[in-house]
Amino acid sequence: MCCHVLDIEELDKMAGDLCGKWCAPGGCAIYAKRPQVCRDFECDWLTERDIPVAMKPDRLGTILMVCPDSDQYQAVCDPKKPNSWRHPMMFKHLVSKAKEGHVVVAKAGLISWRVYPTGECAPWA
Ligand code: SF4
Repeated sequence: MCCHVLDIEELDKMAGDLCGKWCAPGGCAIYAKRPQVCRDFECDWLTERDIPVAMKPDRLGTILMVCPDSDQYQAVCDPKKPNSWRHPMMFKHLVSKAKEGHVVVAKAGLISWRVYPTGECAPWA
């Protein structure tokens, strides 16, 4: 899903475009020689053991990650599931991250929302 949904500057890949190196059914056609940016990336679902299997990115439609450029905690949605961040299980997780002090931003294509510790959300530039 990250090979599709994320913006990867090093590969000139726009958010929502499937990477040209991706091939069915196995995934990356150059896996052994994939760029460092792909080797380094781990979404929060992989690293945070308390996030349930039901929130796996390809199940719910949202990749959870800390943006390396801004330190924002981001929920990046599959373009086919732009409202997946509003799923009650996901939304509860995002509010808990906001309560921890993170700037939490949900992204669906070019549209973003800030999620606040109070459970409110608002469009975010
Ligand atoms: S190079 Fe491979 S791992 Fe990296 S985004 Fe493309 S398909 Fe995915």
